[in-house]
Amino acid sequence: MTFKDGTMSDATQSETTPAKDVEQRLREQVAACTLMLNDQGILGYSGHVSARLPDGRGFLIQSVDQSRASLTPDLLLVCDPDGRLLSGPAGLKPPSEVFMHSEILRLRPEVNSVAHFHHDRTTVFTLVDSPKLVAIKNHAVRWASGIPVHGDPSHVNTPARGRALAATLGAHHAALIRAHGQIVVAESVPALFIDCVHFIENAMAMYDAALLGSVLPLTADEIASFLQDLKRDKHVAKLWTYYVGLARVHGIVQPNWSL
Ligand SMILES: [Zn+2]
Repeated sequence: MTFKDGTMSDATQSETTPAKDVEQRLREQVAACTLMLNDQGILGYSGHVSARLPDGRGFLIQSVDQSRASLTPDLLLVCDPDGRLLSGPAGLKPPSEVFMHSEILRLRPEVNSVAHFHHDRTTVFTLVDSPKLVAIKNHAVRWASGIPVHGDPSHVNTPARGRALAATLGAHHAALIRAHGQIVVAESVPALFIDCVHFIENAMAMYDAALLGSVLPLTADEIASFLQDLKRDKHVAKLWTYYVGLARVHGIVQPNWSL
């Protein structure tokens, strides 16, 4: 598909671009997404973003210790579908929680990118009986099916824990991990970034609303009406362009990255 501004959707580019260039573009997108989520105060020092490689080898993910504030595309690792390191710069290891990525990507073939982060004020929703985090802002319709809470706060550092988390997520697009953090999944790296931004916007709006009074979640009719008008691809493309532009102005991403 080609957008009005002449850019092509990821699917179209994958069909027409050599595999090496597809991987390089994914590397640049994952690095940019990581740097931009960090700059937005979402990712923090221990979050991570993954992207499925279209050739079936596995997925890209950053190493455990590399700073989320200075990631570059060449520092990303390739892990196989079981989360084992396949290739990457010498001495770098995957995050201990790599198994949340491997098991979600295995369970959800339509998901191509996963983010995990530890956003403290969003995690607060797992520390109280009520209110539960629900969709209250218009773009939170993405999570209209619900935002499940994974009850085990442990690090997801084994395949079994990864499978348990993937089971909690089920067919939903985000989950909270009790007393720990968040998982967001999407069809592409740009869509993942935009979803993470909206996920935190919704959580912070609900946090503020709960301070003021009784929270009014979006109704089924409101969700249906908004979804009818929403063009997800166009929305993602517009906001990705905005945030990439912002990051370039601030020198957060390299000007020659193909984003
Ligand atoms: Zn974690």
